[in-house]
Order: sequence, then C-alpha cells, then structure tokens
Amino acid sequence: VVIAFLNSLSGIAAMSAGFIVNSIILIVAGALVGASGIILTLLMCAAMNRTLLDVLKGGFGTITINNEYEKDPISTSPEDVAIQLSYAESVVIVPGYGMAVAQAQAAVKELTNTLKDKNIEVKFAIHPVAGRMPGHMNVLLAEVDIDYEDMFILEDINSEFSSTDVVIVLGANDVVNPLARTDEDSPIYGMPILDVDLAQQVIVIKRSMSPGYAGIANPLFINDNANMLFADAKEGLENIIKSFELV
Ligand code: NDP
Repeated sequence: VVIAFLNSLSGIAAMSAGFIVNSIILIVAGALVGASGIILTLLMCAAMNRTLLDVLKGGFGTITINNEYEKDPISTSPEDVAIQLSYAESVVIVPGYGMAVAQAQAAVKELTNTLKDKNIEVKFAIHPVAGRMPGHMNVLLAEVDIDYEDMFILEDINSEFSSTDVVIVLGANDVVNPLARTDEDSPIYGMPILDVDLAQQVIVIKRSMSPGYAGIANPLFINDNANMLFADAKEGLENIIKSFELV
C-alpha cells in the first residue's frame, strides 16, 4: 500500500513539474500515474478494511494478541488428502502468500488437471490482498495457464463455500481467518475474508501453526472440519499428486 501511495505521489510531483516547465506531456503522464496510484492505494485499503492513515502508521497495530490455541489441530497426510479429494465433487483452492514462497503454482496446475480428469469441479478463490502485492495470486496462476474462468473474486465465490465439498487453503492465513468476522478486538476485524470455514471439509497446507502477516492465530486451523497438512506448499501438493496413483 505504501509503495502504491509513494508511486502516486511521484506522479503528482511529475504533474506539478509539468506545470512549472509548461509541458503538457509531463502534466498528463504525471496525472495518470498519480490517479492510478491513489486508486490502487484506496482499493487495497478497502480490501483490508483499514484507513490509509492506519496503514501509514504501520503494521496491524500494537495491541497485545493471544496467539495460543485452545486445542491441537487435526493433522493429515498426503495419502488421506488424496482419498478425501477423490470422493469430492467440488473443490475450491485458496492460494495465499505461502504458494508464492514455495513457488507451488506448477504443482497447483498439475493437481487441478488430476482432479479435472476425475470429473471433479475445481475453482480458485482469489482474495484481493492475498500474497504481498495486488494481483499476486492472479499473476502466479496465469503463469501456469490456469483458466481465467476458474478464478473467482471474493464477492463471487463466498456464497459457494457452504456447498463446496473440499477447500484447499494453500499457504493462505489472514485472508481465511474467521476472527475478521467474529472478534471485534481482532486487528483484522471487518476485513472481508473468504468464508472457507463454511465448507464441508477444509485442508490447510502450511508448514506450521505460525501466524501470517497480521501476526494473529487463526481458529480455522482447529475447526472440526479442518485438517492440517504440515508441509511446504509445493512438496505437499506433489505428495498428494503422487498419492493419487495409489488411490
Ligand atoms: P499470510 O501472510 O496471512 O500467511 C501466509 C502463510 O503462508 C503463513 O501463515 C505461512 O505459514 C505460510 N507459508 C509461508 N511459506 C510457506 C511455504 N513455503 N509453504 C507453505 N506455506 C507457507 O498470507 P495471506 O496471503 O493469507 O494474506 C496476505 C496478508 O498480507 C494479509 O494480511 C494482507 O493484508 C497482507 N498484505 C497484502 C498485500 C497485498 O497487496 N496483497 C500488501 C501488504 C500486506 P507457515 O510459516 O506455517 O508455513
């Protein structure tokens, strides 16, 4: 957000310089950069439900956060995930920052092909601030030729989770944290999230119980309908794909 904001200021500075040196091109180009930067900045703030001032003040605030879990999560194995998936009719994949870190997009494509070959419907749910820059997930998925028609924005997919058999949360955390809906004291309270906890079954692929960017625990991980596959996103997916051969 800060980078987009500074980018916008650079456009405004160029526009101002255009007025001083009387250059129409500089004025128009500066105005375009300034306007697009500020639009992007405000859209990203809206997606995080935070004001620009809050963002500029930094981080997700300084309140003390309880990151303890009241029970252990249910962990699963690639073999069990393959069995779960093979019985599903509809699967939604929710990519997050961890997919980018692991560079798991090619494995995502391979799993998508495997599922589609078994006549399982596969969709992608893209949160506007998943990852670390706008459009981060779209770029990575487009890189491996995931169909645009299979990618859905938050507003379009949220109503479908309750009728989805299995959701795979791949290296995402804050963007699927139900505290944003339920806990008024949470720093992410009010941020629109993907309601994956409403699905029949949720498989979360990440390496540990550690928090995401906002630094807070995610009760989704200890939900009765959630199974944790503790693994690097790429390795985890590759092992699931291998396990399909045994199913
Ligand atoms: P998060 O940052 O909430 O969580 C990412 C998760 O990925 C971590 O919990 C981590 O868990 C896991 N992870 C890291 N590496 C790997 C790996 N190799 N394999 C598997 N998992 C991995 O990501 P989200 O995408 O859910 O949310 C984005 C956050 O970033 C939001 O809070 C958003 O506000 C913020 N943000 C977004 C910007 C944007 O423009 N998109 C800009 C600035 C901030 P573990 O370590 O256990 O594996």
